[in-house]
Amino acid sequence: MGRVLIIGAGGVGTVVAHKVAQNPDVFTDIMIASRTKSKCDAVVKAIGNPNIKTAQVDADNVDELVALFNDFKPEIVINVALPYQDLTIMEACLKAGVNYLDTANYEPKDEAHFEYSWQWAYKQRFEEAGLTAILGCGFDPGVSGVYTAYAAKHHFDEIHYLDIVDCNAGNHHKAFATNFNPEINIREITQNGRYYENGQWITTQPMEIHKDLTYPNIGPRDSYLLFHEELESLVKNYPTIKRARFWMTFGQEYLTHLRVIQNIGMARIDEVEYNGVKIVPLQFLKAVLPNPQDLGENYEGETSIGCRIRGIKDGKERTYYVYNNCSHQAAYKETGMQGVSYTTGVPAMIGAMMYFKGLWKRPGVWNVEEFDPDPFMEQLNKQGLPWHEVFDGDLEL
Ligand code: NDP
Repeated sequence: MGRVLIIGAGGVGTVVAHKVAQNPDVFTDIMIASRTKSKCDAVVKAIGNPNIKTAQVDADNVDELVALFNDFKPEIVINVALPYQDLTIMEACLKAGVNYLDTANYEPKDEAHFEYSWQWAYKQRFEEAGLTAILGCGFDPGVSGVYTAYAAKHHFDEIHYLDIVDCNAGNHHKAFATNFNPEINIREITQNGRYYENGQWITTQPMEIHKDLTYPNIGPRDSYLLFHEELESLVKNYPTIKRARFWMTFGQEYLTHLRVIQNIGMARIDEVEYNGVKIVPLQFLKAVLPNPQDLGENYEGETSIGCRIRGIKDGKERTYYVYNNCSHQAAYKETGMQGVSYTTGVPAMIGAMMYFKGLWKRPGVWNVEEFDPDPFMEQLNKQGLPWHEVFDGDLEL
């Protein structure tokens, strides 16, 4: 059916490549390109399909990207490099006439700040070019938005309260490690918290608000209120929402390490001079921390991510909880990667599949909840991320 180019050969890129290769009826021609070509070659070797092409590309460079697009002629690019590359890849897509999908919104390198405005600003240009851009199609953002769209379509007349709850109850047996790119991860969680209530954004200190939430098959876990990018698009697309929050679990050991990292200046993203060389402390830290891609082998336990929703149906208040639990070991057995990469890579592949099937094909720049959730939900069950529903239970929130 279609030619797909995956950019980025990290944990998520590896999972996307595996899943794309498992669906040859949809993805007929596949290329994986990244900054380091040997990593792409290693992914292809692990999959064992010599028909998958590989290439080196610097995704910060629009001209290099355009040359690669003109050479391979993909119909869609799955961008699973870093959020810093979103805009250059979108620019190149417009120049070469290629559709676009990513899993994280743009973030400038010199400022730990993320919002959709930079990418939404491309809407008219994608529309005029007749190209589709699908933003934030991992798990959260991604499935969290699809779950919300599914709830709105089938179970609510109005959604009033939305809480996205993200628990990683896995144990990788390292004193400290992040589950995806450490630089991006630490930038995200050391920011102020933020949530939406009655038309306003309320800012908190980092990790200021937390409470025990009970996750299916896992039990209670201390969950911290963070800002997460999908809140921005969901409150815009569902204006009946009165309050929207995002919660993520962290263990005490992780938080202690994080506090020390911050206190000693290793989370800084500005340049410092060391022995005549300019380094960014957080980038240096990434170089010495465990590589998230190497965590899979000894990772036990599971993740549980879902949406807890309260609203009105047929004049009555109701609650709804939709979630997926994903086993790190099962993800590792299938793809060689742990559950966090798996839960991100599978939805990215499904988003591209929705595009090729013509179900999520609409010129412009869109967040996932703006498309029909039903065929995506159906594929989640088939592609390794089955979901479960609880009606009118206690949401704890
Ligand atoms: P990794 O750091 O493991 O992988 C990133 C890959 O991108 C690496 O292969 C890296 O190359 C490549 N890359 C970085 N810069 C460039 C560049 N300038 N040109 C070409 N390639 C480049 O990250 P993850 O796989 O863990 O995460 C990938 C993305 O997924 C991130 O944007 C992250 O924010 C997002 N994510 C989304 C989630 C969701 O649920 N929505 C959850 C988790 C992650 P090299 O190997 O040479 O360094």
